[in-house]
Amino acid sequence: MHMIETALEVAAVILLAVLGWAVFVLFKPYRECRWCRNRRRGRRCWRCKGTRLTQRLGAKQVHKVKLSLLQARDEGRYQ
Ligand SMILES: [Zn+2]
Repeated sequence: MHMIETALEVAAVILLAVLGWAVFVLFKPYRECRWCRNRRRGRRCWRCKGTRLTQRLGAKQVHKVKLSLLQARDEGRYQ
């Protein structure tokens, strides 16, 4: 029984961490490009394509989930 409880606790912590990260990425999806920081100026960066901003880990996925949630909400409202 103790093993199952521990596993559930670990799962809850991971879930909370993922949710926390998702909320963080939702509000701050971009970060300063770390490929630009350590390179000479003048040449276009392959990572950020000169914008000096890159998306955080999972920003695309979080954005996709947000869109599908918004769509689901709108479909529920107009039915
Ligand atoms: Zn860059």
